[in-house]
Order: sequence, then C-alpha cells, then structure tokens
Amino acid sequence: MNGNGNRILGDGANFELARRDMVARQICERGVRSARVLAAMESVPRHLFVPPERVSDAYADEALAIGKGQTISQPYVVAASVEALSLEGHERVLEIGAGTGYQAAVLSLLAREVIALEVIPALAASARERLARLGYANVRVEKGDGSQGFAGCAPLDAILVAAAAPAVPQPLVDQLVEGGRLVIPVGVADHQQLIRIVKERGRTIEQELFACRFVPLVGRYGWPESC
Ligand code: SAH
Repeated sequence: MNGNGNRILGDGANFELARRDMVARQICERGVRSARVLAAMESVPRHLFVPPERVSDAYADEALAIGKGQTISQPYVVAASVEALSLEGHERVLEIGAGTGYQAAVLSLLAREVIALEVIPALAASARERLARLGYANVRVEKGDGSQGFAGCAPLDAILVAAAAPAVPQPLVDQLVEGGRLVIPVGVADHQQLIRIVKERGRTIEQELFACRFVPLVGRYGWPESC
C-alpha cells in the first residue's frame, strides 16, 4: 500500500493480493459460487496475459484492449461464463476466441483438455507461446474460424464463445455431446445476452444469463469482417 491506501502493484505478492481481492469483490460478491471456478480465477496470473502497458490494470473490474482491435474480457465475465459450463474436470472443451489465452488458462484448470481457436494469426501465435511458457500443458491453440466449431475434435462436452454472434451457429450445437453445454453471447454490435444452451435428446434448452458486450465473432457464422 502507498500513503494514500492504494495498492502498488510491482511484485508477485502484490499481484496475488490483487487477485484475491478481484475474486472476492468482483466475482464472489456478484454471485459466482463454484469453489473450483473461484480457485482457478485466483490461480491464473492475469497480469502475464495483458499487454505490458496495462499490467497495473490487470486485476481491475474492466475489459482491456489487447491489440488488433480485440479485448480480454472483464474478470467477472470470464468467471461467470466459465461457471455456466458446469465443468467437473473430465471434459474436453472448445474455446472460440483465444485472444491472449487467459480464459483458456482458466478453463485448463477446470477441464481435462482445452482446444482454443483464434482467427487472428498473431494472437493465436502469442497465446500459444504464452500458455506453453506458463505451463498450461492441456491447452492447444489452433488458428481458424471458430464460428464453424472444430469438427476434428467433436463431439465436445462444452463450448465457450468469447466473441459476440448474430445468432447461435448450428455447427456448435451439432458438435456438442448429449448433455453438452454451450455458452455464447448473442445479439447486435454493442449489446448482447450471454446465453447458456444445454443439448438434451437432440433438443436445446436455452437460458439467458446476463447482458454483455463482446467484440464481434467474425467468420462464416459470424459478422462480416468489415463490421
Ligand atoms: N478469451 C480471450 C479474449 C477474447 S476477445 C482472452 O481470454 O484473452 C475475442 C477473440 O475472438 C478475439 O481475439 C478475436 O480475434 C476472436 N475471434 C473473433 N471471431 C473469431 C472466429 N470466428 N474464430 C476464432 N476467433 C475469433
């Protein structure tokens, strides 16, 4: 702490404190209660995923720009989306929109295997390098259009989409196992609902979680890239 009572971030212990504070105030207090999710959020060093010039804001209650017009989601949104997948540890999970690799790292602590797709080659390469360097060995980052899912890895137990779609892409539902969960923001450019879909006996049960604002999902089942 400095004389004004503000925490000065600079070493590992302070980052740990900031992370604990983030989990308590931004995540637990707002209703995320899964002990596994809270532990994962407390473990992943978010400051090693954000751009160097935003390190002091790494644990702030906001999304941050990560370059190429993209953002790393607000910590609460990451935690609530991940909790909605109801992961127990044995699952194979697809993340669409790897960005920095942060959410994939959180998922990797909650599932058996994570495949993270990223359409921007430079982001895919840096996320892959970062996750390997930090030892998240059960994550594989692939470059490609995730709006079509990833048929090579189907069927999947859970799919998390970190970019906003105009509608739920049917291939994602098709690639889920029976009982599988899909969490995806759906809506228009600056306003979406985060939706949880469960596939049961070939049908889908949809539940709206909360209003949100994500960057657009591009690609075949996304928005045209000029949007
Ligand atoms: N989960 C990320 C942040 C996601 S930002 C993190 O933790 O850092 C959304 C990402 O989705 C951007 O990086 C964007 O390039 C990517 N994206 C958008 N459309 C995509 C598509 N069709 N396939 C894969 N990635 C896509």
